Amino acid sequence: MNIITKDNVIYAMSAANAPALRVASGSRVVFETCDAFSDQITSETDTFEGLDWNRINPATGPLYVEGAEVGDVLSVTIEKIEIADVGVAVCGKDMGVLGHMFDKAHIKIMPIVDGKVIFSDKISFPVNKMIGVIGVAPAEGAISCGVPCHHGGNLDCKKITEGITLMLPVNVPGALLAMGDLHAAMGDGEIGVSGLEVAGRVTVTVDVLKNAGLPTPMLRNDTHIMTLASHEDLDVAVVMATENMAKYLVSQGMTLADATMLISLAGDVRICQVVDPKMTARVEILLDLVK
Ligand code: CA
Repeated sequence: MNIITKDNVIYAMSAANAPALRVASGSRVVFETCDAFSDQITSETDTFEGLDWNRINPATGPLYVEGAEVGDVLSVTIEKIEIADVGVAVCGKDMGVLGHMFDKAHIKIMPIVDGKVIFSDKISFPVNKMIGVIGVAPAEGAISCGVPCHHGGNLDCKKITEGITLMLPVNVPGALLAMGDLHAAMGDGEIGVSGLEVAGRVTVTVDVLKNAGLPTPMLRNDTHIMTLASHEDLDVAVVMATENMAKYLVSQGMTLADATMLISLAGDVRICQVVDPKMTARVEILLDLVK
């Protein structure tokens, strides 16, 4: 079995990272991941001051996919996400949408039992497993794993879950795929700055697509095609994600006018997250409508 253990973590995506593993296109690989705090929070009495902030948002990897060349697309199919039986959520001063309403940080640890998040004695809800950070090396420089961009990264998109295929650009030979920051649950927006952060294991299959010409990052599952885009300004992210969907539909033979009308009539603009250094928007359209 191809496995990358969580001893192999990076905090920035970069061509300079040495591969933790090399595999052929078409391989199945297991990534063992820490939570977004590098598993440092184990009690509700832990403090933010006690954290090593150099170890936030680790991603396991990178994986070198043989045959992946600059200009190709790396297709990553998420086959299985296994999560720990306890997760941590945080909120507080200067964090997220409501950071101005707090004067200190709060930590809440929640058990995960029989597929449900035990939020309190009275409140529980089904898990909504997803991958927060997943990406490849950018063409130049290093991008912190906390930042989402064209290369993927901290997209915090709840659709990146079991059964979906994520298409990422190949910017450097081998692509250098890495992932981490699993969430047992997260709502669109991630408004408090965290999901239910958990350690776990992700099983993926990686495939190199030649001459794919896809507007990455892009998602596909059994029912939908989705385009994602990230920008410091959410309004701009919405425009970028919509442009990408229009470009995709045009690449499938539609006129720009028809593509625009189809997205307007039958597509949905959604928010992935509004709390990271760049905000991430997505546009979804039913697969059945893409002829
Ligand atoms: Ca995240």
